[in-house]
Amino acid sequence: MSDCLFCRIIAGEIPATLVHQDERLVVVKDLNPQAPLHVLILPRRHIATLNDLTPDDDALVGSMFRRAAALAKDHGYHERGYRTVFNVNREAGQSVFHIHLHLLAGRALTWPPG
Ligand code: AMP
Ligand code: ZN
Repeated sequence: MSDCLFCRIIAGEIPATLVHQDERLVVVKDLNPQAPLHVLILPRRHIATLNDLTPDDDALVGSMFRRAAALAKDHGYHERGYRTVFNVNREAGQSVFHIHLHLLAGRALTWPPG
C-alpha cells in the first residue's frame, strides 16, 4: 500500500535500520526505542491489524514469533527475558496500521503495561 509507512520502509522508499530480512519478514529498529533492544518484526505483505488475519496467515505469524525468539537469543536476552507485543487498534495504541511485532529487551519491563 503506497500510503502505508511500513510498506514504504519495506520497499526501501523510507530509510530504516535493517536488522533482518527474508522472503516473508523485514525487521527494523524502532525509531523511538523504549528499551535497549527494540525492534519491529514486519511481514512484507500488508495486513492492517490482527483482526485481518486468516488461517492462511498462521505460519506467517508463527514465523514472526520465532524470529523474535531468535533475535532475543542473538542479542543475549533469551535467558534474562524479553517482551513481544502486538498493539491492536486505538485503545491499545496502534499507530501504524500494518501489523508489527514489537520485541523489547535489555531492561526490567514492568507489568501491567500502561
Ligand atoms: P504501534 O504504536 O504499536 O503502532 O507501533 C508503531 C511503532 O513504529 C512505534 O514504536 C514507533 O516508534 C515506530 N515507528 C514510527 N515510525 C517509524 C520509522 N520511520 N521507522 C521505525 N520505526 C518507526
Ligand atoms: Zn503496509
